[in-house]
This record gives sequence, C-alpha cells and structure tokens, in this order.
Amino acid sequence: MAFLNTVLQPPAYGWTDELGNLSKPTNKQIIAEFFKRLNVFKDKKNWLSFLSWILVLALVPFLGLFIFKYFSISGLIVAFIYSMIIMGTHGTIWHHRYCTHGAYTFKNNFWRFFTQNLTLKIIPEEIYAVSHHVHHALSDQPGDPYNAQGGFMYCFLADVNHQPIARGMNEASYAKCVNLMKHTGVKVNTYKQYQKWGTLANPARTIIGIVLNWGFWFGAFYLIGGLALACAVFGSAGIWAVGVRTFNYEGHGKGKDMRREGIDHNREDMSINQLWPGYVAGEWHNNHHLYPKSARSGFKPYQFDLAWCYIKMMSVLGAVSSYRDSKAEFLKVYCSPVPVVLPGAVPVTEL
Ligand SMILES: [Zn+2]
Ligand SMILES: [Zn+2]
Repeated sequence: MAFLNTVLQPPAYGWTDELGNLSKPTNKQIIAEFFKRLNVFKDKKNWLSFLSWILVLALVPFLGLFIFKYFSISGLIVAFIYSMIIMGTHGTIWHHRYCTHGAYTFKNNFWRFFTQNLTLKIIPEEIYAVSHHVHHALSDQPGDPYNAQGGFMYCFLADVNHQPIARGMNEASYAKCVNLMKHTGVKVNTYKQYQKWGTLANPARTIIGIVLNWGFWFGAFYLIGGLALACAVFGSAGIWAVGVRTFNYEGHGKGKDMRREGIDHNREDMSINQLWPGYVAGEWHNNHHLYPKSARSGFKPYQFDLAWCYIKMMSVLGAVSSYRDSKAEFLKVYCSPVPVVLPGAVPVTEL
C-alpha cells in the first residue's frame, strides 16, 4: 500500500490539504499545473505527457478534413463506430483489463502485439496502468488520481496532472513500478534512463512504435476507402481521445453518490454502472470495482460486454490462454434469489 501511495508524482497543490482532506484546487490551479507539466522545454521529463497531447492535436487536422472536405453520412457512421465502440472497447480490453488488471493472458507475444495495436496508439500504457492501480487502492480518497470529488477538470486533465509516475523513486521502488508493467511487453527504461527521462517508457522506442502504428493504420484505411476513410477514422480517434478523459469523472458519479439499489452492488466506493459506457466499451464500472481482475464486467443479462466478447473469442481461437471470469461468483453473492415477502402478497424474488 505504501508503494502505491507514492508511485505517482504529486501535483503542486498536493493530494491532501493541511487537515488531511482531499485538496480541491481551483480550475485556475489545475490549468496552471497542466501547462507546467506539459512544458518539455523546462523539464524534459515532461516528454510523455507532452507527447500524449501532441498526438491528440495531430489528429485535429484529420477531423477538419473529414468535416469540411470529405464529409458523408457513411463516413459519419464509420467515425461514430470507430470512436465510440472500437477505440472504447479496445481501451477496456488492452489498457484496462490486460495492462492494469492482468485479467487474462495471451498464448504468445504475437497475440499480445496484435491486440495492443488493434487501434491507433494514443494513450501511453504506463500513464494509464500505473495510476489505475492507485485508483483502485485509493478510490474516491485523497491520492486517487481521478477523484471525482475534485471536480470535472481535476479528472479531465488527470493524465498530465496526476497520473505520471513519480520522478524521484529509488531503485527498489522503480523496480516495483517496472514489475507492474512487465507483462505488457512495453520495453522499459533502466533505472539510469529513468533518472534521465522520468518515465518507464523510452522516448525513441515509444515514438517509433507510434509512427509505425499510425503509418500502418493510415495505409490500411487509405487502401480500403481512400483519404476520406482515413480522415474519418483518424479524426474520430481524436474525438475519442478527448472524450475518454470524461469517463473517470462520470464513472464515479461526478463527485456525488449516484449509486442505485439493486444495480450498483459495490458500496465501497462511488463507482456506478452506466448504460452507455457499458454498452459501447464493456465498462460496467461498479461491477468492475467489485471484481477488478475479472476479464468480464457485464454480469447481468442486459449488461452486454463487448470487451469480454473479444477476450472470449480470442480464447476460443487459442490466442488467449487463460482468463478470470467472476460472473458466477457475482450472481451467487449478489443476485441469488432472496425471498422478499410483502404484506398480503405472494413472495417475490429479487432479480
Ligand atoms: Zn473506478
Ligand atoms: Zn480497473
């Protein structure tokens, strides 16, 4: 626990105030911190956050070309499916269930590489995965990198302000950090390189990986549907990259207790099951906080889970060698028929 309390680089406004409560910065403080931590000219250790937002900006011209030059209804449908469903579900499959929670294993490194590169690479694995362990350990408490009680901007800009790893780790702590990422296949820095770059990821390898990934996908979409399709897909990926940053705020009830009886069974934190993130990305977030290591989060009949469909399909094909599935346990613990006897009525059972 102590390790996860210190693995992230604290923001200038700190995780807690002088009373030990959540430090709630103003939007002005959050934005100032954001630009300070993006400034690579002042500190090259800011490179990974800087790169991640440069990638988002790099997608804007594609969006502009799609809207003003190549717009079509079929393109709009492709853009919607790619940004809302494909990018979202891939984030759940790769960054969330695999990189962070190790909910399943691949048969070999080829299938891991295949899954990693199924969509445009935009979010660096370490920014997501390391901080997400902290999110689970400290959900809705000070130190949670996207604590919804900190407000919308606190969560929206968390990838820069709260999620990067600490800069001053000793060798033993850095080794633990490396350990969190070792199954992902991301080739990490040596301790000496970390002292120079402040990250697990190596700049040259990361940039080459992104260039090859974007090049492959641009070429593939161009060959299928010309510049119109390539611009629709790349532009919509940019929309996803911005939109996904709103999920952590909404997935924990926007700082309020929005949990519903009979739907959000986990009472340990403020996470909620929501239909839209559930249907488009398999993010049944309250269920997920109950069983974070499960490769499936949609447990009830209506909780369709597309990310699980992919993992299960890959298992059937032999590309995934093992997975955890907590559905049976969830149903047994939370949904076994409990007789509810109403006065003067026949017993009914809770679904
Ligand atoms: Zn959560
Ligand atoms: Zn999680």
